[in-house]
Amino acid sequence: KFIALKNYIKGGYPQEKDFETKEVDLDETLGNNQILVKLIYISVDPYVRGRMSEGKSYIDPFKIGEPIECGGVGKIEKSNCSKWKVGDYIANNQFPWKEKFVTDGNNPGCYKADKNAAPLPCYLSLLGMTGMTAYCGLTEIGEPKKGETLVVSAGSGAVGQIVGQVGKIIGCRVIGIAGSKEKCDFMTKELRFDVGINYKSPTYKDDIAKAVEKTGVDIYWENVGGEITDAVLPHLNKYARIPLCGVISSYNKTELDVGPRIQIYLLKSSAKMQGFIVFNYIDKFPAASKQLAEWYNQGKIKDQHSIKKGLDQVVPSFLSLFNSDHLGKMIIKIADE
Ligand code: NDP
Repeated sequence: KFIALKNYIKGGYPQEKDFETKEVDLDETLGNNQILVKLIYISVDPYVRGRMSEGKSYIDPFKIGEPIECGGVGKIEKSNCSKWKVGDYIANNQFPWKEKFVTDGNNPGCYKADKNAAPLPCYLSLLGMTGMTAYCGLTEIGEPKKGETLVVSAGSGAVGQIVGQVGKIIGCRVIGIAGSKEKCDFMTKELRFDVGINYKSPTYKDDIAKAVEKTGVDIYWENVGGEITDAVLPHLNKYARIPLCGVISSYNKTELDVGPRIQIYLLKSSAKMQGFIVFNYIDKFPAASKQLAEWYNQGKIKDQHSIKKGLDQVVPSFLSLFNSDHLGKMIIKIADE
């Protein structure tokens, strides 16, 4: 069984009817270097939304009727590739939403998921694309320094939880913004951020202003865009940095916001805002992964997962990303380890 895109979306929120679950007989015969993979965990990521619409982007749209792809961890059931043996766990940022599949064992996107080094879901989170996004975006663009103030939007989510914790390890004062009291408690109590701000509170603009009254904002980690960004940018310090990781508030708009609405604050503070795609930093992944694993094993960084079970939970979990109560990384367990 696999989940495919049924039609492209022109604008607006994706819905159940835009997906279909298909069943096909799998030919398990392996060609040279091929492996048979049983999917164990699959990720649902907001960027999947971008590939559900036609049009030019940094990555092609999904093909109608073909499996949706996202990060996944699987177990090798058959191998015709010297790199992999039966029973190995394998991860890739582009595995299909499909229970079992044959793939190229030499695909450079595949990496080993070592269950002894970290729990398997970590390879979709801290040690997968999410962790690489947070670590590389923060260190390369955010350039955090001890004593600086870092504000993280969608701070309780997959990327945000790691950005804030890396900021804390470096010695920043960290302010997380998220959409509920529970998420704010999670950020301050579990992740040890200094302040959690609920942007759904009517006082959130004042709450942000108060939280940065004495320090200003040296780094604003942009995950959401829109009104939250509007509320943060007036507080930028001179030479502030803004890693532009995502703008989830606009992914489902039928028409994009038209600017200019924030440039004045960038100008006044001589700030730098830079968009990036995690794969820009692919050469830095090994070092990033090593550092994050070390902090994880030293108990300095947590990796929270919200795990649902079953292929039938993949689409609802994906849809809920745009209005969800999950903490940390949303992952779906498809089969037992
Ligand atoms: P999350 O786990 O953070 O889930 C998304 C969260 O975004 C939701 O839980 C919700 O939290 C918040 N959200 C959703 N809609 C809105 C809205 N309209 N306004 C404000 N907040 C909203 O997802 P990820 O950590 O996986 O992704 C975070 C961002 O990082 C996304 O924009 C994503 O596209 C981007 N990203 C970019 C990458 C890159 O290479 N540049 C790579 C990976 C991710 P809440 O309840 O707090 O609103």
